[in-house]
Amino acid sequence: MIQLYIPLNFLGVIYREIKQSLADMERLFSLLDEHREVADAPDAQPLRTHGAEVRFQHVDFSYESKRKILFDVDFTIAPGTTTAVVGHSGSGKSTLSRLLFRFYEVNGGSITIDGQDLRVVTQDSLRHAIGIVPQDTVLFNDTIEYNIAYGKPGATKEQIVAAAKAASIHDFIESLPDGYGSMVGERGLKLSGGEKQRVAIARTLLKNPAILIFDEATSALDSKAEQAIQAQLKEIARSRTTLVIAHRLSTVADAEQILVLDHGRIVERGTHQSLLAADGLYAQMWLRQQARVDEDLASPASPGPD
Ligand code: ATP
Repeated sequence: MIQLYIPLNFLGVIYREIKQSLADMERLFSLLDEHREVADAPDAQPLRTHGAEVRFQHVDFSYESKRKILFDVDFTIAPGTTTAVVGHSGSGKSTLSRLLFRFYEVNGGSITIDGQDLRVVTQDSLRHAIGIVPQDTVLFNDTIEYNIAYGKPGATKEQIVAAAKAASIHDFIESLPDGYGSMVGERGLKLSGGEKQRVAIARTLLKNPAILIFDEATSALDSKAEQAIQAQLKEIARSRTTLVIAHRLSTVADAEQILVLDHGRIVERGTHQSLLAADGLYAQMWLRQQARVDEDLASPASPGPD
């Protein structure tokens, strides 16, 4: 009994850790299939997307019964548009993406994609429709080709190379001694944060999902790498329904809709310009961040959109 308990408990720990970081969730689910907290309904149907409108309707949520995390969260991401979520640390931003991927069940309200409640669709089809570029991409101890192809089992070499090119990582891969056959991951080449994110972007391009979740890296990349990643993301977000979990405001100015979360409630929503004009929490956060950037950067190449 004890012998059985320990490994299961250990798997549980890994499961929670990975769930938390949104890293590698697809792989994880295939490994720990029986450990899903959320099961398919007996009559679950495959999700059918046409445009992929995402709706959160009066969503309440808590991880533990005593502490509510989201309160009456209500918003729509129109098909093919980008919604960015901003807010202080712990306000509930990443929780929204975990709920959209149905890691957890909402406690009140509903989440729908093209009118289909997540509770009545199969999880496989849901996860097939959503591509995630996580904060911190975990690479498998395998070749870089395998790591990219993971986005689409059975992808051809041409498709993999095309995705790598679109993610601006092809030249880097070609410069490695073993090219696409180079081993990466813990026991292979260590890639930088920006390179890992590009691998994740290539993976996502190959998967070609209708919905994209981008969980922005909390640790800032250098500003050149950051700009390159932003440009690529803009490209892959085009014509896809996109949810950006933004940890820095400088990356959200182009979003069609910005939601400002505060202690689990949407307190403001609008575009960058309308939120600045409203002179509320977003405007305060923006001013504070700009002041920090000005302080931090001695060089004249100060970032910041507009
Ligand atoms: P950050 O910008 O720091 O990433 P966030 O806005 O994305 O923060 P969330 O990760 O959504 O915040 O967390 C919202 C709240 O839920 C936090 O108070 C956090 O402590 C809590 N929380 C997150 N995951 C769990 C969990 N698995 N169990 C219990 N509480 C959790």
